Amino acid sequence: MTAENPVSVRQEGDIAWVTIDSPPVNATSTPVRAGLARAIDQAQRARYAVLQCAGKTFVAGGDMTEFDRPAEQPLLPDVVQAIEDSKTPFLALMHGTVLGGGFEIAMACAWRIATPDARFGLPEVNVGLVPGAGGSQRLPRLIGMAAAIDLACSGKMLGAAELLALGGLDEVAKGDLQSAARAFLAAQPERPMAVSQRKTPVSDPDFWENAASRLAARAKGQKAPLHNLEALKWAQLPFREGQPKERELHLALRQSSESRALRHVFFAERAVARPAAIGNTTARDISHVAIVGGGLMGAGIAGACLAAGLRVTVLETSEEAAQAGRERVVNIIDGALSRGKIDEAGHGAQLAQLNVTTDYDAAAGADLAVEAVFEDLGVKREVFAKLAAVLGKDAILATNTSYLDPEKIFEGVENPDRCLGLHFFSPAHVMRLLEIVRTPATSPQTLATGFALARKLRKIGVLAGICDGFIGNRMLSAYRRQADYLLADGALPHEVDAAMRAFGMPMGPYELQDLTGLQIAWANRKRQAGTRPGSERYVTIADQLCEMGRLGQRAGRGWYRYEKANRKPVRDPEIEALVKGYSAEQGIERRAFSDDEIQARLVAVLVNEGARIVEEGIAAGPDDVDIVQVHGYGFPRWRGGPMHYGESVGLAEIARSMRQVADQSPGSWQISRLLDRQD
Ligand code: NAD
Repeated sequence: MTAENPVSVRQEGDIAWVTIDSPPVNATSTPVRAGLARAIDQAQRARYAVLQCAGKTFVAGGDMTEFDRPAEQPLLPDVVQAIEDSKTPFLALMHGTVLGGGFEIAMACAWRIATPDARFGLPEVNVGLVPGAGGSQRLPRLIGMAAAIDLACSGKMLGAAELLALGGLDEVAKGDLQSAARAFLAAQPERPMAVSQRKTPVSDPDFWENAASRLAARAKGQKAPLHNLEALKWAQLPFREGQPKERELHLALRQSSESRALRHVFFAERAVARPAAIGNTTARDISHVAIVGGGLMGAGIAGACLAAGLRVTVLETSEEAAQAGRERVVNIIDGALSRGKIDEAGHGAQLAQLNVTTDYDAAAGADLAVEAVFEDLGVKREVFAKLAAVLGKDAILATNTSYLDPEKIFEGVENPDRCLGLHFFSPAHVMRLLEIVRTPATSPQTLATGFALARKLRKIGVLAGICDGFIGNRMLSAYRRQADYLLADGALPHEVDAAMRAFGMPMGPYELQDLTGLQIAWANRKRQAGTRPGSERYVTIADQLCEMGRLGQRAGRGWYRYEKANRKPVRDPEIEALVKGYSAEQGIERRAFSDDEIQARLVAVLVNEGARIVEEGIAAGPDDVDIVQVHGYGFPRWRGGPMHYGESVGLAEIARSMRQVADQSPGSWQISRLLDRQD
């Protein structure tokens, strides 16, 4: 087997063993497709053929690096069809993840056997596509339309037991896979009707309409779930009519902006996790983490560490605070149990790894300490002095500060090369983003350990330099500032929110502020008052809300009113009068803003700030900015993050919007070099 031919055939008795060996995931690259085509021919001498994969998984999808080029021969649908049409019937013998092209190949085989932990799916929807090799046509014929919609339109995976129950597998192998295949074929099973020749029951129009409206409600502007539904609908036609339609749509969607954006995010997620700053240093092992502060963030960070199998010591200031902190962490572990994420044994194991105490000595021996106490420089410094006294001299020290300067926090700490910021997002046991903040002293090994921790916690680490708000919160401040300018100039909160939801954000800026509470941003604005440029326009509406105690959902009112029974924001005439009153006071003649204008201006500000962050070296590149926005701030993944989106609509257009923004509020915006050089 060579890189040119990653598919081998070995004849053993009356079975031809066809093995794909193309690390890392046996993707259906051109060499794999070509190798398979040859292997199918060679297998014709045998009575049966078994198709299996070397390494950690069966074929786990297509080779996305090929998707920007025209498809090369042999095409996957032809290879898949040749397997189904082969005189020698194929048995798919599967382990790991059987995804996309892998599942399409398996469905063309006469029989399917898998390990109990194998998982199956058609995740093309996750990259804005429909299957391209008959997946949408065979899946409903194999497991029924309802289950096929559930799988292909959401991109989720099924376990082996579930697929078996749906009739998609012939057997779940109890022991060794090859022995299971031999035993299965020794029984001389009758070759079943090819999946493509089976009938899909025709559903009535109501069924399709209901499915479409359910999907549209969840899709938040993304088109691929509905494209997949359309493709599945074609499975009601004869296969020879439905399959070419699916293929045509697949190829057309490869060129779509949605698929390009989703592929961009897929590759960017992988690229940002290995920043050049780490070099080839190896990460330190982390098994015991000390967390200082068991509040909202500390408890979430503890939950994430426990779920990753780490030992956790949480330090608090008093017995009462320790008790409250412990309850918060236990709540998170209980939640994982009740949602079925862990079983009783896992629950017990996590509890056994948790210690919440006021005694710093309990942290001795920890490999890493994460500080999540009040946002106060003095308090944080004191914490690190105490930690340095009990921990080893090379234990890694991290701060979860949102806005303070980590360099100042770590001033005076011995060996500052082991210090860094680990900026988690709330709720920290759920949100996938982790900003890994380097100070000028942070060593590559400390950074590497931060990134290894992110992976262990199943998070995506993004490297950030020091500035007010790092990458994400700095962009959020700019975005909110521009939203407030829109209010002052004529928009109302619900209009701004609706426009941004229509763009694909899960929430608009004002609903989101109400959800998270207005206090933190208020405290920040007060902190920044001394350094804010005198020329910068400052809209005081948000401050007025805070002074009125309208601090958001938890206070029952913020930018909206909230009825007790639910958390639905209700428009409030008092706020609308306040906004209009502010404009009048400032002598501003209010004017209407369309959804398009609101979106264009807010997105332009995000692109501009993102570009400045890259130009200042705070982010390593535009990919890093995109990943922060997609994973931390709800920027629609299918739009690729602001930097990719800017490129895709054209930076000249973004620059035009940014100039309008800047003209409307003179002295308030610095235009990035990236946008400044656009005509
Ligand atoms: P919080 O008020 O919920 O929790 C702070 C906890 O720290 C409290 O339980 C308090 O008892 C404890 N504490 C205070 N001083 C201590 C000390 N000297 N030793 C031990 N424990 C001490 O606050 P939070 O929202 O969890 O924020 C904590 C930090 O995380 C802040 O720096 C904040 O800026 C940052 N942060 C917050 C968010 C967020 O969304 N809330 C997001 C990212 C980062």
